[in-house]
Amino acid sequence: MNSTYFAELILPLNLEGTFTYHLTDSDLQQIKIGQRVAVPFGTQKLYTGIIHSIHQNKPELYKTKGIHAFLDDEPIVTPFQIQFWEWIASYYMCTLGDVFRNAFPSALKLESQTFVRLINPDYENLQELNDHEYLVFEALKLRQIISVEEAALIIDAKSAIPTLKLLIDKGIIQLDEKIQEKYTPKIDNYVRIHPDIKGNDQAFIQILDSLKKNANKQRESLLQLITLETQNQGKPLKVADFVKMGSTNAVIKSLAEKGAVEIYQFQTSRVDENELEKEEIHQLTLKQTEALEKIKEEFASKNTVLLHGVTSSGKTEIYLKLMEQVIAKGNKVVYLLPEISVTTQIVHRIKKHFGEKVGVYHSKFNQNERVELWQKTLNGDFDIIIGPRNVLFMPFDQIGLVIVDEEHESSYKQMDTKPFFQGRDMAMVLGSMTKAKVLLGSATPSIESYFNARQGKYGYVELTERFGKIQLPEINLVDLKKAQREKEMTHDISHILRDEIIEQLKEKKQVILFQNRRGYAPIMECNSCGNTPECPNCDVSLTYHKFSNQLKCHYCGYAQAKPNRCVSCGSIELNTKGLGTEQIEHQLQEIFPEARIRRMDVDAMRGKFAYEKLIEDFENKEVDILIGTQIITKGFDFGNVNFVGVIRADSLLNFPDFRAHEKAFQLLTQVSGRAGRRQEQGKVLIQSYQPEHQILQNVTTYNYHQTMKDIIYERKEFFYPPFTRLINLRFKHTNKERLDKTAAQLVQLLKPSFESRCLLGPEAPSVGRINNQYITDVMIKILPNQSPIKVKQLILQQIERLHTIAAYRSVKIDIDVDPM
Ligand code: ADP
Ligand code: ZN
Ligand code: ZN
Repeated sequence: MNSTYFAELILPLNLEGTFTYHLTDSDLQQIKIGQRVAVPFGTQKLYTGIIHSIHQNKPELYKTKGIHAFLDDEPIVTPFQIQFWEWIASYYMCTLGDVFRNAFPSALKLESQTFVRLINPDYENLQELNDHEYLVFEALKLRQIISVEEAALIIDAKSAIPTLKLLIDKGIIQLDEKIQEKYTPKIDNYVRIHPDIKGNDQAFIQILDSLKKNANKQRESLLQLITLETQNQGKPLKVADFVKMGSTNAVIKSLAEKGAVEIYQFQTSRVDENELEKEEIHQLTLKQTEALEKIKEEFASKNTVLLHGVTSSGKTEIYLKLMEQVIAKGNKVVYLLPEISVTTQIVHRIKKHFGEKVGVYHSKFNQNERVELWQKTLNGDFDIIIGPRNVLFMPFDQIGLVIVDEEHESSYKQMDTKPFFQGRDMAMVLGSMTKAKVLLGSATPSIESYFNARQGKYGYVELTERFGKIQLPEINLVDLKKAQREKEMTHDISHILRDEIIEQLKEKKQVILFQNRRGYAPIMECNSCGNTPECPNCDVSLTYHKFSNQLKCHYCGYAQAKPNRCVSCGSIELNTKGLGTEQIEHQLQEIFPEARIRRMDVDAMRGKFAYEKLIEDFENKEVDILIGTQIITKGFDFGNVNFVGVIRADSLLNFPDFRAHEKAFQLLTQVSGRAGRRQEQGKVLIQSYQPEHQILQNVTTYNYHQTMKDIIYERKEFFYPPFTRLINLRFKHTNKERLDKTAAQLVQLLKPSFESRCLLGPEAPSVGRINNQYITDVMIKILPNQSPIKVKQLILQQIERLHTIAAYRSVKIDIDVDPM
């Protein structure tokens, strides 16, 4: 074939750049940038690629292949997305294929190793299947599951992907993945006047009379229910709520037996809220209105505004109002949240106002649900699309506003798979590429954002008062050294903390307690020889989990039964050290045997909707004390919590990381902010062995500005962001010697180009081996007078040079730009 036209394709490969394929005349007639195509790659592999561009530059060095088939009539990726992906690949130093793999739903991306499953074996319109589809359908009836590769053997390589795609479109097959459970919402009991007597005065009076003699309470309840129904205008009334208003379960039951009332069931779903009645957005207070006006004013000259509002100042209310105004102008909103599973409350609040025009990207969605969301977004069905960092990859158009809620949250950074991008920063890139405004919001803004705002790069709007003029919680410190000395402790709970919890429970208030570690005890130690059991695959000690009576590794998941004797000396005197949430839970249960105590951490929250269920139980006041790790600090808005306790602040303060103080301040301020959000001022007690620590002192006085000033000073002194940019090169290999040699060699190659204070390592991180892979890090600091682009090029060049020697090539190097 002697084509004159070629297409560049994005393929889901860990290889640089795009890939050239030649085009036939008929290809040319249907081709559009952003369409999916099925192509061969290498000798055998099949892939789904995206059309990146069309040109006439015939590659000189190799023979191009042709495209097997077009999978779409219209583009499924927008031109803007391609541009955005390229930006990310270049900034985060990864391949376009890495971004494509992460950004695009895998159900739309069939490749050789993809498996599909028959979901409609009874499909009847066989005459609508072409020969290939029919053959694959027949094969699937026998085997249920086949891969693209196998389909290629049954029909032919060229038709495999297009055929499976057609079968998917017809709903006959689906991408194979574990069947995902659906959230089954809680069923609640509701009560109403029995429909048979409602409006039937005669029957009603008869019943009322029959209750006169010895059932006065029932009579009263019935009359109360009538009044309530008139007031509520048909709004369903929960039995539980009716009981709170003075009735009792026994009375309601008797009334139901007599046919006076009816108890019925009704699902109260938190996930599918589209049927909810829409509510008006609250009227903003004067302070909130001022803040909103100031935000808009700042947007006139700046692309990004930081809204720094104390916890419960009504930031979310301001977002709602602003979104309404943006949508009224015909634009769309992207709303970023740190982690969707713990922010169901906010999703609920947004859906209440904007109904089905809200698209929610749930990180636990399966691939097929993801495709549906992609397609609806492409159709422009949503005004608002909410989700964690990956929502940035949706194919939207016409964005007017991007909101980054809780912008300080480190979970905006993707750490486990490439690209290692920072969602907050990408939101700003998205904003500038689409000319959308970006609103960052937090009660404890990150150093970076605060610094940029102070420098005038971002607009800055402050809200210093809680909604309803409620005072911020009073925060007090408990000196654990002193409490221990004076024997004012039961296990790890000081008596001051214990008494406060008793007081709260007496008042029927709920309590939130925070402890930074999960498990029972982080360390087991032999009393005789000091030996500590470690993970065989990682360089960390195993954490004791009492519930399962196991020792577990939090890095690789390794687990073993708790030993009875020290493996080193045989002693039976094994002690546990350190304190995890599981242990706190046990201690609390002992101190408060009557209390209903629940735990929120990754161990307790394994199921798909575990968070939703616990939040629901907490809201329904079925939980008295909630103990949790960091998860509980993220934006909860519970009305019945007036008190928050921190079990031990010390591990936060002593963490070996340049961000430790910033994070400790943010976390403690955020967790404190869960208290006293409705009527009265809340209270917080923080237990610590070092109550004199400056960070703790600043937390108690809400001295955000001073804290940031101190930290900024330190960062400047030691060349850390925001005064430098960091790039971390993480080397991984199973052979430690080879690893160290390779890292040292690269440092040698980089040395001439950097000042010594800007090239650190190689140094093993605090956990130097995970899953049998040794790890070592080289940190590069980019000074303000250097061009980050040039530095990145230089790093890539030197890695390429390193790789000319075969022995170094097997060591994996992960490049992390702006590591967290
Ligand atoms: P933040 O996002 O700053 O933590 P929220 O928006 O969650 O604060 O507000 C805290 C609580 O106060 C919420 O329950 C919210 O509904 C309520 N609230 C805030 N502003 C208003 C308002 N203007 N009218 C009615 N309720 C408000
Ligand atoms: Zn021992
Ligand atoms: Zn391990």
